[in-house]
Amino acid sequence: MADQTLMEKLVSLCKRRGFVFQSSEIYGGLGSVWDYGPLGVALKKNIKERWWRAMVHARDDIEGLDAAILMHPRVWEASGHVSGFTDPLVDCRACKARFRADQLDLARCPEKPSLKPGAHTKCDLTEPRMFNLMFKTFMGPLEETAAAVYLRPETAQGIYVNYLNVLQSSRQRIPFGIAQIGKAFRNEITPGNFIFRTREFEQMEMQFFVKPGADADWFEQWRGFRMAWHHHLGLRPEKLRWHQHAANELAHYARAAYDIEYEFPFGWQEIEGIHNRGDFDLGRHQEHSGKKLEYFDQAENTRYLPYIIETSAGADRVTLTVLADAYREEQVEGEVRVVLGFNPAIAPIKAAVLPLVKKDGMPEVATALYHELRKRWPCFYDDAGAIGRRYRRMDEAGTPFCITIDGQTSTDRTVTVRHRDSMLQERPSIDQLTDFLAERVSEG
Ligand code: ATP
Repeated sequence: MADQTLMEKLVSLCKRRGFVFQSSEIYGGLGSVWDYGPLGVALKKNIKERWWRAMVHARDDIEGLDAAILMHPRVWEASGHVSGFTDPLVDCRACKARFRADQLDLARCPEKPSLKPGAHTKCDLTEPRMFNLMFKTFMGPLEETAAAVYLRPETAQGIYVNYLNVLQSSRQRIPFGIAQIGKAFRNEITPGNFIFRTREFEQMEMQFFVKPGADADWFEQWRGFRMAWHHHLGLRPEKLRWHQHAANELAHYARAAYDIEYEFPFGWQEIEGIHNRGDFDLGRHQEHSGKKLEYFDQAENTRYLPYIIETSAGADRVTLTVLADAYREEQVEGEVRVVLGFNPAIAPIKAAVLPLVKKDGMPEVATALYHELRKRWPCFYDDAGAIGRRYRRMDEAGTPFCITIDGQTSTDRTVTVRHRDSMLQERPSIDQLTDFLAERVSEG
């Protein structure tokens, strides 16, 4: 069941604690464009790094790439985006709102939010017309058609057009993959749900090149790897499911496609797509560029256009998933405790160092410890207010451990470590803390 209040609470927490702000807020904001604050940028960076480690560092059959956002305009003709990257758009002549014709069931009439667009007597909807989602701009000083370029609507094309460069320079052999994280832009008609659907976003994409015939097996392997990655990220398994594209949803060239969906407060939605794209992409680029993109298989002395298995996830969407999955409220001593229960490995702050009071040498010991731990992990120092309040502030930021320096520390060098999730406390020696944290917050 959709739970909009939960989303509202999450959006407000994200702003209050510095995860996500509306873009250009002091000018009234820019529609569906968001900025990441200090905690948000750390969280998203940790997610991207984790993806990069799993997809590039941990494998010897995947290479990294960082292609430019601007590409030759003919790339987008070859890819089919100029002619086909469109959504059907419906306008309401009465209230001027715009909707995706294929999502009218999910949309709401701005004049009467209990109704769908078209259901209110005042609604006056146009016929659907196709609207291209690519942002267009101009390269060079002249704003003329010949100078038009696009902000890329996906990162994948940068991989396809560099496939031979990477193959030759890395000395990979098929099967192998190319991974990339980068910005993409789509002029979405009905963006929304916070950072779920935005006009500027980041993708984490990997294209795996395989021999035709080996594609079905690799497709299954990649489905397995990618779902396991989301589980390992710490997402609740019961909130994840597969959605197989039915024949009428499949792109005409796609041999198979599955989405990994998450149950957000606003319903089940795609967070990642895994696609068997056949030889469509390389075939189109070969045709449009006139350059041979075939692979020469030395062992078998044959040439072929590789098939591609794609895994495509949104970094912002996964960040929202992590936030929504981690958010919980608990009743503690008559108060509501708000917790972001992140997997410690991706938490923006790993530990808070808190002197119990600002006297008796506690701040000095705490400061020294804080500087020591900061050499390895993002930590936070807080000496303001009652200790209970300080714990709550860290719960809301998703900090897994609070380390308190108290009166006993000066006598036996022990500290209190308070666990975010259980709120249980233990008392290790201050000298064991580096090992203690290393065991618990490092990447698994
Ligand atoms: P949708 O049908 O929701 O528009 P899509 O099927 O077009 O999405 P893909 O082109 O497969 O999405 O993009 C791959 C991934 O990129 C998606 O699973 C999602 O995580 C992310 N993504 C796509 N569009 C957006 C967007 N507007 N904002 C944030 N993330 C996006």
